Amino acid sequence: MSGERKQIVIIGGGITGLAAAFYLERKIKKNGLPAEVTLVEASPRLGGKIQTVHKDGYIVEKGPDSFLERKQSAPQLVKDLGLGHLLVNNAIGQSYVLVNETLYPIPEGAVMGVPTKVAPFLTTGLFSLQGKLRAGMDLVLPASKPQDDQSLGEFFRRRVGGEVVENLIEPLLSGIYAGDIDRLSLMSTFPQFYQTEQKYRSLILGMKKSAGNKSKQAAPVKKQGQFQTLKTGLQTIVEELEKQLELTKIYKGTKAVGIERGQHYSFKLDNGIVLHADAAVITAPHKAIAAMFPDEDWLKGMREMVSTSVANVALGFPEEAVKMEHEGTGFVISRNSDFSITACTWTNKKWPHTTPEGKVLLRAYVGKAGDESVVEQSDNEMVRIVLEDLKRIMKIEGEPEMTCITRWNEAMPQYHVGHKERIKKVREGLQTSYPGIFVTGASFEGVGIPDCIDQGKQAVKDVLAHLFE
Ligand SMILES: Cc1cc2nc3c(=O)[nH]c(=O)nc-3n(C[C@H](O)[C@H](O)[C@H](O)COP(=O)(O)OP(=O)(O)OC[C@H]3O[C@@H](n4cnc5c(N)ncnc54)[C@H](O)[C@@H]3O)c2cc1C
Repeated sequence: MSGERKQIVIIGGGITGLAAAFYLERKIKKNGLPAEVTLVEASPRLGGKIQTVHKDGYIVEKGPDSFLERKQSAPQLVKDLGLGHLLVNNAIGQSYVLVNETLYPIPEGAVMGVPTKVAPFLTTGLFSLQGKLRAGMDLVLPASKPQDDQSLGEFFRRRVGGEVVENLIEPLLSGIYAGDIDRLSLMSTFPQFYQTEQKYRSLILGMKKSAGNKSKQAAPVKKQGQFQTLKTGLQTIVEELEKQLELTKIYKGTKAVGIERGQHYSFKLDNGIVLHADAAVITAPHKAIAAMFPDEDWLKGMREMVSTSVANVALGFPEEAVKMEHEGTGFVISRNSDFSITACTWTNKKWPHTTPEGKVLLRAYVGKAGDESVVEQSDNEMVRIVLEDLKRIMKIEGEPEMTCITRWNEAMPQYHVGHKERIKKVREGLQTSYPGIFVTGASFEGVGIPDCIDQGKQAVKDVLAHLFE
């Protein structure tokens, strides 16, 4: 350890940890702070869930494929890295929901499944007349009594009824969280829906109002989608971050296994090294965090937190092998339908740059809360299951010429009801017993890439305030 310089350790080299290191370096350089940074990553590569494969001319995302442009921190990081010229938006196109054996266009104006336009909702065949009438009751139902938290399922069923939830809201939401909407926390996933209900009483009217306000303020409507990625794949962000981290010492293939308190904190690494730290940001998934503090009571909630296993199967075909009757960018599948896949992106339509000319790229998803066994199947079996499902929905001839299968075991942290309260306890416990140690990342306040970057940035503020203010 050198002189008076403060030692800052970052555990986990996913996007949260990397963004924290990047913005920490900026502050250290800008303000000439006497600090050194070390980042410890368990796997041999950086990036965590972000991983791109270039195979036979296809660009395949094994983890996330894009981020929401509107959540500024992700495009901003890309620009801060000098990669703005690589940003590309998704092509807009119709998305569908599959109920039983039929693909229905997602009604125009549906925001996470909540209708904000009347005509498309009234004319869709996706819901029965009864279902539509029940959803319309949202217009007259009173707001619920204020409460700390509730499940997404409970909230939406009360507002718009079971049918709209089963046929539209559930498949859209569980596509993001791979979770059980009857356990997922409203306040940790979509608090804005709760706030809308409390403010406007009716969810539909409230959403309509805020959509109207936004479109009045907005610049002319762009003919491009709301998601962005990089033309070369999201991994370019990770590679550029690694290149530009000048002050950060990086240990790859090295796991942090424990922490001890003394004059400084000591992180024990599985290669025998002990790292001294004056402050630290732990961005590893909650299970790894819980293992680092085995005896702490305040981590009980974190120990009980579960993660869902998912997998995705990318399949490349020659154009003539796949006939799509529907124009669009993909579909999600309702839970009641008898399929193993939960969704499929027509990647060549949504992200044309990922697919060679004359080819089709499909990316199907399997695994959800309560139904994860398919993730454990062999590669061949998984491709067979996915193809069998896809052939019920579209015409596919022959076998794919390219396959890329990715399993993510216990990868999707589940924010169950009470999540906010549980993480508050963890943070209070840390502040009391381990001041200067901060935990953050996908297990805490948002799984989306921009949420993770925001959390990394906040951790930088917390660490610097602890050390230098
Ligand atoms: C299949 C899939 C699709 C997704 N799609 C999207 C999408 O399209 N858009 C979007 O915005 N988000 C998406 N997400 C979510 C998003 O990718 C993740 O939430 C985000 O990348 C998590 O970043 P993180 O740095 O917090 O965690 P991680 O990426 O999990 O990084 C944590 C790192 O910590 C390391 N680690 C673990 N234990 C230790 C230890 N003891 N010591 C040192 N290091 C350790 C791990 O190896 C890992 O690299 C998707 C996620 C998955 C799995």
